[in-house]
Amino acid sequence: MSQLLPIPRAPKNPTRPWTYDTNSGGPLDFDKTIYKTLMSTSRSLHKLVNKFEIPIRTGQAWEVKQGQICRILTVGGPQVGDLNLWNLHDPRERMWAAKTRQLQRSHISTFDRIWSTLPFLRPIVTILGDTLADYGIDEDSGRCHDLLGTRCDPYVNRLLTGQDFDFSCHSNLVRAVMPYKLTEFDVHDVLNVFQITGLNSDDRYFMKSCPAREGDYFEFFAEIDLLCALSTCPGGDLSQPLWGPGSEDADKNPLDVCNPLGVEVYDVDKKYLEGWKPPISPKYGGNHGITLKKWNN
Ligand SMILES: [Zn+2]
Repeated sequence: MSQLLPIPRAPKNPTRPWTYDTNSGGPLDFDKTIYKTLMSTSRSLHKLVNKFEIPIRTGQAWEVKQGQICRILTVGGPQVGDLNLWNLHDPRERMWAAKTRQLQRSHISTFDRIWSTLPFLRPIVTILGDTLADYGIDEDSGRCHDLLGTRCDPYVNRLLTGQDFDFSCHSNLVRAVMPYKLTEFDVHDVLNVFQITGLNSDDRYFMKSCPAREGDYFEFFAEIDLLCALSTCPGGDLSQPLWGPGSEDADKNPLDVCNPLGVEVYDVDKKYLEGWKPPISPKYGGNHGITLKKWNN
């Protein structure tokens, strides 16, 4: 007997789907003139102040000061990186993946912004460069630079495999931020740089192989002073499932699909930043509906 598909319940007040508007001059729109100038100027015009590689299956934290540009690049082949961002001076303000999905998109690229947690809620970075922007949407509805999923972690790994593994992205990020006196509780939902993901017809999250080639990069402008941390995912280019069907394939060694990632930080000449304004938080009064006692009533 064939199973009948449920008929979606008709709402009492039907509407067309609606989204947040990041253009049209609304509150989420912003003047892109300065950012376009930064994108068009050669990196050789900016001063490289920090450059390093993150080896496979590890993590590293670094600082990016307000007004600097940070580039994450593939240096040995395809590799997924899990990125966390905090306000350098107050780790309670950190990137908010879920709100960024709502206000921007679930996969971000040039001119998208990453928003911070409440009560701060401001754009802490603006994406300047993305060599994979032309990946677009593939035959499985996959897109690049993922905010839908989050980091791999040893708890889910234990749940699904019964094994302990200490070099998941969560653990790599935990080790990375230890020098900054942050802990496991500070590590948060990530941006999966260079990672292809989507939702299938059954509304289930999927991952696909990373399409990056050596030299691809994802680059952002720091709107505030940032502490950044990046993990080189132990799944490498994610061409081999980390668990479930295919993960036990003896012909494949996950280490063969792991590569380091590069990081570069650039000082920007002040002349390129004329007219730029730092992001501000919404001026909410902060009462949250609490009725205050009126002493003179
Ligand atoms: Zn990972």
